[in-house]
Amino acid sequence: MTSDRTRDRLIERLKEQGIESNLVLERIRNVPRHLFVDEALASRSYEDTALPIGLGQTISQPYIVAKMTEALIDSVKGDFVLEIGTGCGYQTAILASFFKKIYTVELIRSLLLKTKQRLRDMNIYNVQFRHGDGWKGWQKYGPYDGIIVAAAAPELPNDLLEQLNIGGVLIIPIGPPREQELILVKRNHDHYETKNLGSVSFVPLVKGK
Ligand code: SAH
Repeated sequence: MTSDRTRDRLIERLKEQGIESNLVLERIRNVPRHLFVDEALASRSYEDTALPIGLGQTISQPYIVAKMTEALIDSVKGDFVLEIGTGCGYQTAILASFFKKIYTVELIRSLLLKTKQRLRDMNIYNVQFRHGDGWKGWQKYGPYDGIIVAAAAPELPNDLLEQLNIGGVLIIPIGPPREQELILVKRNHDHYETKNLGSVSFVPLVKGK
């Protein structure tokens, strides 16, 4: 169920859908996605679909993780990435092999604690975790070369724009529930430049207190 063949099928499917980076495809093949979901769902973990992880949250669809990662490594020149919406840490684990350091923020504490342990068990050490509201980013370690948001916002969060380095890139789903566009924002010296990467569907980026 979690065999090489099931993983190969997933990789083939991602290629068919337009993922071109061999580095990203290899990373997805090697990260054991079945360890990020409940045992009862492990048999479905190499399907190209989002799955529930409890507390109303989901593990992102592999295609979306691949697409966001591909866009990020294509456009980010530096080493430091901020991730908002850690969830089960699947995207974090994929990103960790491409950047020197990942800073990740999650609103649900119990989820974060489990994820911290999970990534440690996988010997992934270049990740710093924070329990907090991602709308505010994580100012302490900014500005960042890249920021990736795994939950949908109705508008671009100002604090995240401000925590981008010059030349830095933010990737974020923007729009109402179930019909968002994945937006890439690049910070230039005197303006922000945006590009639409296509339609997506994410859980909402909840406003913290
Ligand atoms: N990155 C995950 C998917 C995360 S789903 C993966 O690889 O599968 C989105 C996550 O964003 C959820 O865990 C949710 O709790 C979190 N979230 C929602 N609003 C948030 C906020 N304001 N700040 C931080 N995390 C938030």
